[in-house]
Amino acid sequence: MIETVQHDDVTAYRLSWWRSRLRGFSVTVYRVRDALIDTGYPRARDALSDTLTRAPVRGALLTHHHEDHAGNVQWLADSGVPLGMSNATEQILRKLPHIGLYRRITWGAMASLTGDIARFHDASLALIASPGHSPDHHVVFDHTTGTLFSGDLFLGVRMKIAHWYESPTQHVRSLRACIAMQPTRVFCAHRGLLPSGTAMLAAKADWLEDVIARVLALAAQGVDATTIREQLLGPLDSTHWISFGDYSADHIVRAILRDSMINDLSDPALRARE
Ligand SMILES: [Zn+2]
Repeated sequence: MIETVQHDDVTAYRLSWWRSRLRGFSVTVYRVRDALIDTGYPRARDALSDTLTRAPVRGALLTHHHEDHAGNVQWLADSGVPLGMSNATEQILRKLPHIGLYRRITWGAMASLTGDIARFHDASLALIASPGHSPDHHVVFDHTTGTLFSGDLFLGVRMKIAHWYESPTQHVRSLRACIAMQPTRVFCAHRGLLPSGTAMLAAKADWLEDVIARVLALAAQGVDATTIREQLLGPLDSTHWISFGDYSADHIVRAILRDSMINDLSDPALRARE
């Protein structure tokens, strides 16, 4: 299913199908000056194909490798649509890691990217590194209108679950960097056009900074990671069990502790004392 909503110069294509709706999920890809931002999940291909056949695009930019954003990249490449993405995203797409069953059920199965691709570049639409949600995460900033296409940078003020490779510390830095760009509008890939987008990004950065400080304070007192998670984030939710722990609140606490160790090891003052 595809719902189309026009926001002045930006067209939002909200994609969902019965399995994603069962879990309350949809994803939105955006079109601006006939450039596509992200490509949707594999099972959205037919709906997207109908739309893009009627109104072709100049090219597509990818925010990151996750299958609900890059799920139709091979089909677009085979269709001759030029593609723009970071080297990190391309490397992952060409050798995809294992994708859990719960994600394949929700979005459909995705194959690795193969073969040569036509490159897409638009000087007014900048792919800007914004790691945290994933190491290869980028936002797209439209310099002509100050519009931020934030991919999965926002999702919600509170982070309830995470993959093991997420970095809350980097995520805060990415949020602050995007706020500093003073975007006029913020389009989230799952929440659509955010009302007061910059304020919502700031609320998320504040919430994450607070959680990071609390996690580190409890860890300094010798509290173990599971107890910290229970105290700060509550019990494990259904997604933890459905994903066999792949997508879990436990990873938020563990990632904060890991980030802190990496920061300690890279601190010149600490290294000088060794
Ligand atoms: Zn994602």
